[in-house]
Amino acid sequence: MAKTVKKAAKKAAVKKAVKSMKNVYYFGGGKADGKGSMKELLGGKGANLAEMAGLMKLPVPPGFTITTEVCTYYWDNKKNYPSSLKAEVESNLKKVEKETKKVFGSVDNPLLLSVRSGARASMPGMMETILNIGLTEKTIPGMIKKTGNERFVYDAYRRLIMMYSDVVMEKAAGIEPKDDKGIRKVLDGMLHDVKSKKGVKDDTDLTAEDLKTLCAEFKKTVKNVLGKEFPDNPMLQLWGAIGAVFSSWNGKRAIAYRNIEKIPHEWGTAVNVQAMVFGNMGTDSATGVAFSRNPGNGDSHFYGEYLINAQGEDVVAGIRTPSPMNKWSKNTHSEHLPTLEQVMPKAYKELDGIQKKLEKHFRDMLDIEFTIEQGRLWMLQCRVGKRNGTAAVQMALDMVKEKLISQNEAVLRVTASQLDELLHPAIDPKAEALAKIVGKGLPAGPGGASGKVVFTSEAAMALKAKGEKAILVREETNPEDVEGMRAAEAILTQRGGMTSHAALVARGWGKCCIVGCGELEINLSKKTASIGSVTFKEGDFITLNGTKGFVYLGQLKMLEAGEGNNNLTKFLDMCDKIKRLDVRTNADTPEDAVRAKKFGAKGIGLFRIEHMFYGTNAEKPLFILRKMIVSKTTEERTKAVNELFPFMKKAIKGTIKAMAGFGVTIRLMDPPLHEFIPQQKEVKEQVCKAMGITMEEFDSRAAVLHEVNPMMGHRGVRLGVTYPEITEMQSRAILESAAELIKEGVKAMPEIMVPVVCHENELIDQRAIIERVYKEVVAKTGVKKLPLSVGTMIEIPRAAIMSHKIAEQADFFSFGTNDLTQMTFGFSRDDIGGFMGAYLEKGVLKNDPFQTLDQDGVGYLIKQGVKGGRSTKAKLKIGICGEHGGDAKSVEFCHREGFNYVSCSPFRVPIARLAAAQAVAKEIKTKKK
Ligand code: ADP
Ligand code: MG
Ligand code: MG
Repeated sequence: MAKTVKKAAKKAAVKKAVKSMKNVYYFGGGKADGKGSMKELLGGKGANLAEMAGLMKLPVPPGFTITTEVCTYYWDNKKNYPSSLKAEVESNLKKVEKETKKVFGSVDNPLLLSVRSGARASMPGMMETILNIGLTEKTIPGMIKKTGNERFVYDAYRRLIMMYSDVVMEKAAGIEPKDDKGIRKVLDGMLHDVKSKKGVKDDTDLTAEDLKTLCAEFKKTVKNVLGKEFPDNPMLQLWGAIGAVFSSWNGKRAIAYRNIEKIPHEWGTAVNVQAMVFGNMGTDSATGVAFSRNPGNGDSHFYGEYLINAQGEDVVAGIRTPSPMNKWSKNTHSEHLPTLEQVMPKAYKELDGIQKKLEKHFRDMLDIEFTIEQGRLWMLQCRVGKRNGTAAVQMALDMVKEKLISQNEAVLRVTASQLDELLHPAIDPKAEALAKIVGKGLPAGPGGASGKVVFTSEAAMALKAKGEKAILVREETNPEDVEGMRAAEAILTQRGGMTSHAALVARGWGKCCIVGCGELEINLSKKTASIGSVTFKEGDFITLNGTKGFVYLGQLKMLEAGEGNNNLTKFLDMCDKIKRLDVRTNADTPEDAVRAKKFGAKGIGLFRIEHMFYGTNAEKPLFILRKMIVSKTTEERTKAVNELFPFMKKAIKGTIKAMAGFGVTIRLMDPPLHEFIPQQKEVKEQVCKAMGITMEEFDSRAAVLHEVNPMMGHRGVRLGVTYPEITEMQSRAILESAAELIKEGVKAMPEIMVPVVCHENELIDQRAIIERVYKEVVAKTGVKKLPLSVGTMIEIPRAAIMSHKIAEQADFFSFGTNDLTQMTFGFSRDDIGGFMGAYLEKGVLKNDPFQTLDQDGVGYLIKQGVKGGRSTKAKLKIGICGEHGGDAKSVEFCHREGFNYVSCSPFRVPIARLAAAQAVAKEIKTKKK
C-alpha cells in the first residue's frame, strides 16, 4: 500500500517537473537553445545540431528538438505528452517558419519538415526518420509553382508516402506483417515495376508524370493494405511522425540493438523536427555522407560519397552506386564516376572547410551528413565517427602529430577490441554480415579462422602437415590434445568455460577458439557433427568468429592480422610512456618468452613448471612425473624427482635466459594429479615395469590418488608440505640455473612463487627448504650475488584475508585470480559451461567473472589482500597472474589498487599495455574535471 502511494507521488512529481520544464529546444539562424554537451537531454543528433547551428554558426536548416525526457514521459503515461508540449511545438514551429520564410501547410509557400529520431548513443538504422512532412493535395500545387519542378515534388511525395506508411501507419501502429509483406516492401515493389515497365534503371529516370501516377497508386495501396487513408493534413502528419519516433524507441529492432550494445532502455530518444532542404531538386542538388578521415584505414584525407539528385538515405541504401567525394574516396566501383570536387567545386570547398573546422572543434574524426540544394550546402548531422582498429591507431598517432590531441587523449582513442583486431586475423565484416550463424559459444580466443573440420588431434596434425588449415572440433580438450590444438587453426568445443583448458591454451597462443558451444554434438564414429539442425562432416569447411563466439558453415573471407605493423609499435610505445603498471607475461617456454618480449612484455609473471609435461618433447619428463605421482615411498619418489631434475633445469634455464634482465616468476608445481595418472594400458605397463610394481599395485595406488574434489585437493603447496623433496628439487633447478647463467654473464632474476597458500605456516615451511637449498647452491657455485626472492600466490580467500600475516613470509604477492574467482564464487571454472550462458542471458551476472574480474566480490578480497600485505611490508611487490591480467577493465582495477604489475598471455600483452596507459589517462581526465 505504502509502496503504491509512494510510486504515485513520484509519478506526479515527474509529471509536474516535465510540465514546468522546457521540453523543446530551438536551433537555426546562428542561434540554438541547446549545445553539444547536452546529449542526455537532446540526444546525440539534437545536441550536435545545436552545437553546429548555434556555437559554430554552420549552415544548418532550422528546427527544434523535443527532449528525451518527453520520451520517458510518453512511455510512463500511456503514450501521452506533457500538456504544454503542443504549445511549445507550435511556437517553435513559428520560429522555423520565420527563419525559412515559409509556412507549414501554406498553399502558396509551404514549409516541409523532417522528423528525425536521435538517442544519446547512436543507434544507426534502428529508429526512424520521416522526410517531406507537410505535402498534401493542397500544398503540392504550391510547391510545384514555387519550384517549377513537378518531378521533384512528386519524388518527394512518393518518398513521404513510403516512409510515413511504413513508420507511422504500420510499425508504430503495431502491425506486424509477414516477411516481405510490409508496406515498404510492397511500395518498393511497385516502384520497381514502374521502372522495369519503362525500361529504366534508376529512379532518377522516371518523369513527373510517372511519379504522379505512382503516388496515386501508392495511396490506394496504403488504404488497401493498412485499411486507413494516408493523412492529407500537415499537422496530423507531423504529430503522427513525432509519436512514431517515440514509439520506435521500443520497437523490436531498437530493443534488440540496445541489448547487444548495452544501452540502457530507460534513456529514451529525442525527436528532431527540422526544415527540409532538398538534394533531389535536379542536377545542381545532391546528398551525401562523409568522414573527416577515412574510417577504414585512418588515412587523414577527407573521405565520402554523394549522389546527385537524391534524398535521405539513398547513398547508404545503395539505390545507385554513390560517387566519390574526391580522389581519396575512389574505389573499384566508383573510380570512373565524377567527384563532388569536380562537379560542384564551390560546395565541395565549403564542405571541406567545414569538416576541418568540425575536427578542430570536436577534436576527433567526424561522420557528417549533408545535402546540397541547388548549389547551396546544408549540414544535417555530425557525430564522432566509428572506425576500425587500423584506423583508430592511425588517427590517434596522426592527431598527436598534428597537435590536435594530447598523448593522454590519444591512448583513450583506441579500444581494447580495436587493438585486438590488429593482433589477429579476422573475418571480413562484409562477408560475415551476409553469412548465417549456425551456432554460438563463448568467445574464448579472439579473431577469425576458417578451415576444414577435424575431430582428433591426429587429424589436425595430418592436415597441418599437408599445409592445410584445420579446425579442431572436440567435446572438450585435455592436455593430450595440445599438439593437435597447436596444429589447428582454431578450436571449437562443446563444453568448457572461458578458463577451460581449451580456452587458456588457445588464448596463450593467440588462437581463435570457441568453447561451450552447447548445441554442438559430435559423432566420432561417423565423423560428423551437428549444431542444431545443421550437420557437417570431417573435411567440411567451417569458419569461426572467436571474438564473438559465432560459428559459420563454409569458408568466409579473412582479413590479415597486422603483423610487422609499425603504427602498432609506435602506438604501444606511446602507451608505455604513460603507464605506471609494468606488464609481464605468462610464459612457460623460451619461445613464448621471446614472443612476449616482441609484444612488449617486461618480465614473466607466471612460469608454470608443469608445462614441460605437455606437448613436444614432453614424453620423457611426463613419464618420470607419472612415476613420481604414483610413488609410495620417499625412496621411490626421490628417485623419480632426481630423474626429473635435469629436464626441469633445462626448461627453466632456457626461459630465464630468454627473459634476461627481467624478473621471471617461477611457480612451484601445481599439477592436477588426476590428469597425469595414465589411463592407457601400454603407458600403465611401462610405468609398472620401470618401477618394478604389479598392475594391481599400480591400480590401488591410483585409486588412493583419486580425489572427489581435485580442485580443492592435494595440490600446490600441500604437495610441497607433504613431499619436501619435490620443493627441494624445484628450487635447486631454479637457483642453479640462475647461478650458472650469472656466471655466464646473463642477468638472471628468478623469483620463486609458492601456489595455493592459505596460511603463513605453509610459507614458513617452504621457505626453510628454499633457503637451505639457496645456501647450498651459493656454496656450490660460488655465485654470491644470486638473488633470492620467495613470494606467494594469493588465490585462496583466506590468504587474502590474512595477507598481513602472510606478507611476513613473502617477498611478493601475485593474485591468482582464476582460482581466487573459483573459490570466491564457488564456481568450478571447468564446469561453468552448464550455467554461465543462462546467467549472462538472464542478467543474473553482467559478465563472466572468469573473464572480467568481479571487482565487487573478488575485488574486495584483492583490496584486503593489498592493504594487509602492505601494512606489513610497505613496499611489497604486488602483481596479478590470472587471465584477468589481460582484460582491460581488470587492468584498470589493478592500477587503481596500486599494483606493481599485471601479467597475461603473450598475445594479451599489447592490450594490457594499452589498458595500463588508459588507466593513467582516465585518472588525469577526471582530475581535470
Ligand atoms: P539516421 O539517424 O538514421 O542517420 P537521420 O535523421 O540522420 O537518420 O536521417 C537520415 C537522412 O535523412 C539524413 O542523412 C538526411 O540525408 C535526410 N534528412 C534528414 N533530415 C533532413 C532535412 N531536414 N533535410 C533534408 N534531408 C534530411
Ligand atoms: Mg537511418
Ligand atoms: Mg543520420
